[in-house]
Amino acid sequence: MLTVSNYHYIRNNFDTKYPSIFGVTPLKFKEQLLLLQNEGDIIKPKELLNDINGVLQSPENKFLITFDDGLKEQFDFAIPILDELDIQAIFFVNSMNHQEKKVSTVHKIHLLRSIISTAEFLEKIHKVEGFSFSNSEKDKAEATYIYDDKNSAVLKYILNFKLTFIQQEEIVKELFEIYFNEDEVLDSLYMSEYHIKELAKINCLGSHTHSHCPLGLQTSDVIKFELENSKTFLEKLTNSKIEMVSYPYGTPETCTNEVADFAKEEGYKLGFTTKRGKNTFTENQLLLNRFDCNDLPGGKNYR
Ligand SMILES: [Zn+2]
Repeated sequence: MLTVSNYHYIRNNFDTKYPSIFGVTPLKFKEQLLLLQNEGDIIKPKELLNDINGVLQSPENKFLITFDDGLKEQFDFAIPILDELDIQAIFFVNSMNHQEKKVSTVHKIHLLRSIISTAEFLEKIHKVEGFSFSNSEKDKAEATYIYDDKNSAVLKYILNFKLTFIQQEEIVKELFEIYFNEDEVLDSLYMSEYHIKELAKINCLGSHTHSHCPLGLQTSDVIKFELENSKTFLEKLTNSKIEMVSYPYGTPETCTNEVADFAKEEGYKLGFTTKRGKNTFTENQLLLNRFDCNDLPGGKNYR
């Protein structure tokens, strides 16, 4: 039985003008690893790859630690703690940040929302040529995001439902360029190629696809490209084999059976979603379940 715990940001301080970046502190991360170690074995990525069926069929609790997005802070803060406890994790990296030197749209949104209010963000979107948002759409937005204030509900609705990924990319890019220098963000936010090579040396590197787009909503050609290009790029860069992929967002509409089939065709052995749950031998190995770290012992939402 395999339980996977997933992490993104790890830093000492999450204070921003508008809270929009969430994650764990190094202290919380270490505490959680110790708690998980009490409940079972935390296995290394290579151990899993060497005996996938054995791990999934095992009656014992096995844990895998995963990090998405290839952030530099993961290397700086998580690796020393993992080393200290003699644990390994797998780090899923996007190739676009390195190959095209572009910041992922998802991170541009996090950064923008940390320095401008939701109202300002909306105001800027409304100024984009040709953009309109009706009152009935507003009602739908509020009904969809009942726990958010009105502005946040509308913004989330626009980003997630109203715009295609390409439209979202364009609008966010325009806004991002007003407030940030892309090269500086690339340097400070993401691991360097050196870091990536170091991770590959210890078999701790996986693909998070090329550009962090929602795979299941793309055409077959785009899905294949995202899976294939990131694998080839990382393999060439590190002279190693990339056999695990985590799908961006990881929701059911982004991780379809078609996506899993393409991942298998491209030579991936394991694929990870963000569907909560443990994994046994009945799971599709290209669509494994994964908990957000907050939902496991030691996490914010764990009861
Ligand atoms: Zn991600």
